[in-house]
Amino acid sequence: MKHVCPSPESPLSRIPLRFREKGADKSQKAPLSLIREQPEHGGRYVYLCRDCYCLITSQAQETAVNAKHVHVFPNPHGLVFEIGCFSDAVCFTLGQPTTEFTWFPGYAWDIAMCISCKKHLGWLYTGRDNSFYGLILQAMVKKET
Ligand SMILES: [Zn+2]
Repeated sequence: MKHVCPSPESPLSRIPLRFREKGADKSQKAPLSLIREQPEHGGRYVYLCRDCYCLITSQAQETAVNAKHVHVFPNPHGLVFEIGCFSDAVCFTLGQPTTEFTWFPGYAWDIAMCISCKKHLGWLYTGRDNSFYGLILQAMVKKET
């Protein structure tokens, strides 16, 4: 069965994307809404949900946190996650941000899920001055643009 990404008119697309309100920030990154229409703005490749192939983020949103884009962390249950850091992503978050067991000191985390199929994709990290997504690289597939 083919899943279809929610259209721009879908109520789901009204979920605020962090960073979007900050306007033309210094990074000059194309907003994800533009990438959805014109994928070449996303860099050389985009990241799709591994389960439903919905657009999640793109190479242009890759960012380094504590000097690294990719981080590997065990959770309190011993599962190991390889996550990439992204300035923005199309995800929705669940629950209340918490700093308990946070992998990034100073940042509270919130679970981030695919807006289309609800797959767990990673976490939104919110700090005092900024926020970013830490997304499980295995939960996504890369597609060249
Ligand atoms: Zn999905």
